[in-house]
Amino acid sequence: MQRSTGLFFGSFNPVHVGHMIIANYMATQTALDEVWMVVSPQNPFKKRQSLARDHDRLHLVRLAIGDTPNLRASAVEFDLPKPSYTIDTLAVLREQFPERTFSLIMGGDNLPTLPKWKNSDILLRDFDIHVYNRPGYELGELQDHPRVFVHDAPLMHLSATYIRQCLREGHSVRYLVPEAVAKELAVSGLYR
Ligand code: ATP
Repeated sequence: MQRSTGLFFGSFNPVHVGHMIIANYMATQTALDEVWMVVSPQNPFKKRQSLARDHDRLHLVRLAIGDTPNLRASAVEFDLPKPSYTIDTLAVLREQFPERTFSLIMGGDNLPTLPKWKNSDILLRDFDIHVYNRPGYELGELQDHPRVFVHDAPLMHLSATYIRQCLREGHSVRYLVPEAVAKELAVSGLYR
């Protein structure tokens, strides 16, 4: 049997418990066998000052995952042409891991934008899309697409922007990020 892998893309700048709750929910309470958190690289043409270096963000995601079964961090996009398009990343992953079937995980805020993605018709034809509802966002007509699966996952009202703001202002981020991440942020001084 092919292993069913959900891909959760993000800049994870830094990763927080809102992300981890979704990743773990999708890995344990859906048809997916595992979830890979795919860290988006810095786009060299769109440098964002507040975006930590690729490997620092990847390291924090690895710390957040720790020994959680069926969660994994992926740096696959670091070596791809930038900006990376999801359809191209999926093609690379399919080639590298022929024993897996890949699906996408996205928040309900993203689903209505999908028709504008590169090769969205192929995406919707070839890949399952696992969507979690986000309050205040309508899913639109794609929610009825046979490849789209909608979930009600537990949600945390939390953003990486807020975590960075706390760190900049010297506030504690305890409980907002996994403990190992909080420790690493304190030691490294990232985002301060
Ligand atoms: P920023 O505040 O820097 O924009 P973010 O917290 O939204 O960051 P991303 O790295 O952009 O983090 O998030 C990765 C994915 O997780 C995105 O699809 C985003 O919509 C989703 N996401 C972010 N925060 C939450 C949350 N609290 N609950 C569920 N999904 C979230």
